[in-house]
Amino acid sequence: MSIWSCPVCGGDMERRERSLVCSKGHMFDYARSGYVNLLPVNRKRTKDPGDNALMVQARRSFLNAGYYKPLCDRLCGVLVPLSPAQGVLLDAGCGEGYYTKNAAEALAQSGKQMEVYGVDIAKCAVDAAARSCKSAGFAVGSVFHLPVKDESCDVLMSLFAPYCGGEFQRVLKPEGKMVLVIPGEMHLMGLKQAIYDKPYANEVQDYALEGFRFLGAERVEAEIFLENSEDIRSLFSMTPYYYKTGREEHRRLEELEELRTQISFEILQYEKEV
Ligand SMILES: [Zn+2]
Repeated sequence: MSIWSCPVCGGDMERRERSLVCSKGHMFDYARSGYVNLLPVNRKRTKDPGDNALMVQARRSFLNAGYYKPLCDRLCGVLVPLSPAQGVLLDAGCGEGYYTKNAAEALAQSGKQMEVYGVDIAKCAVDAAARSCKSAGFAVGSVFHLPVKDESCDVLMSLFAPYCGGEFQRVLKPEGKMVLVIPGEMHLMGLKQAIYDKPYANEVQDYALEGFRFLGAERVEAEIFLENSEDIRSLFSMTPYYYKTGREEHRRLEELEELRTQISFEILQYEKEV
């Protein structure tokens, strides 16, 4: 059994060799790397939605270099006690699976029997996730229409991904837990100072979310030192500023050979209100 539901009709699905099939006959194939594509063609707004292959590669090399390890370690430290002895963890918007993989390993090491799944809209990211993490199940799908059964998840995590409260509520079991990671106020201030005339802090969000009870927040703060321009560019391509930065700022970015910057995150924990 898995948590996947038919993205067309919402029905349960059964595995038949290299495919998942629902009772109405909608069929979805597994890719060679092991993920299943559950994004119906009519939900795609572009041919290849989500991050492109270059961005996925940049993020992978940046994350694998360990720059965000302080966050990853703390995230695992939050997920393990929050998870039941046996159950399901879903990473909604899993990207190339860096956190999914580390969470799956930390849960297994703790002795918890958690099935781990990841969903992302970017096929190339999900393909990379499926290749790097064989212990989790991955699907291409939208977080706004998760191809996941109602009340099938004990824990849902969402890192820097679109928040979709209604869907997250739907797939979580009663009293299921939700972990969100958002950038802290001073996240990447060093990077912003290096390229913008007027760097500004991130907006602080209100923790309250409809349908969820707030359990607590943890702050992760660290300073990282990037010693080559490739890592700096990789980091920049992971940020929302990538899309809204002018030519002059891009020129400054290209000239940076090293960078010291603060990283800052908040790990927010919630419980589904019944
Ligand atoms: Zn179906």
